[in-house]
Amino acid sequence: MEFGQQIVSRVQEIQDTELKESGVRLLMKRDDLIHEHISGNKWRKLKYNLREAVEQNHHTLLTFGGAYSNHIAATAFTAHKAGLSSIGVIRGEDDASNPTLKFSREHGMHLYFVSREDYRRKNEDKFIDDLEEQFGQFFLVPEGGANGLGVRGCAEILPEIEEAFDVVCCAAGTGTTLAGLALTLKENQTLLGFPALKGGEFLLDEIDRLMVESRLRPPSTVNHLLITDYHFGGYAKLKPELLEFINGFQERTGIPLDPVYTGKMMFGMYDMIRNGTFENETTILAIHTGGLQGWQGMKHRGLV
Ligand SMILES: *Cc1c(COP(=O)(O)O)cnc(C)c1O
Repeated sequence: MEFGQQIVSRVQEIQDTELKESGVRLLMKRDDLIHEHISGNKWRKLKYNLREAVEQNHHTLLTFGGAYSNHIAATAFTAHKAGLSSIGVIRGEDDASNPTLKFSREHGMHLYFVSREDYRRKNEDKFIDDLEEQFGQFFLVPEGGANGLGVRGCAEILPEIEEAFDVVCCAAGTGTTLAGLALTLKENQTLLGFPALKGGEFLLDEIDRLMVESRLRPPSTVNHLLITDYHFGGYAKLKPELLEFINGFQERTGIPLDPVYTGKMMFGMYDMIRNGTFENETTILAIHTGGLQGWQGMKHRGLV
């Protein structure tokens, strides 16, 4: 993997017997195939953060996340490959058997555990100053890679695509990926974001903030909206009907989905297709943002 070079993931038409009578054509952008370890949008979001860190002569990346965070694993791996040190500020307590933490440690990340209370202070200057005092200088990547540089990386997804499409569907955590997609949407296209967390409505403001921070030209019309009905209770849950959908989709199409983000997004999209939300002959582009390492976390917690 070279961060300097462009990796263009492919677009695949999904042949699914379940969609035969639906009148909808489904394409999928396979960002899950970009890299074995840094799956999908985590690679996109880290690309310009890493570049900026190197340009500013930093030797260490510091970031934040939960103990099963895809972003923590991706940052550890990225820093390691680039020859930088990394520090992960982790919410909660250490657990040597946690696969995400284990992977991150194996890739040289120093893990620093903080209470949930302290973790909530992660955007306060005082908290960051204390971290600098403890660890020395670092380049700070926000939780989930949620900054303007992260958005810039995600603004490269849609311009790679040659096929025509009407609707884009994408899962959301911090909204950074959605912000990048929204900035590159054509006027006659609609973007549907599926928050993986309950109460995801707050993301609309966050998307606005992130778009501004990217300093990319804002779109002339707002064509993005959130579909908040498919969070399935949040990050650390795995409902049987969701698992059944994910397994069925993989059996029919051969494509694995993750349990935290893309599984919910695809479940919701299929539900909307069944309910007749989309006009006949609509072409939907689903973004497969990756996240397959999330299965290890589910297994570790005994949820699957
Ligand atoms: C982190 C992640 C997301 C969320 O992306 P945001 O840019 O934070 O909204 C979506 N899908 C997968 C697979 C992820 O790992």
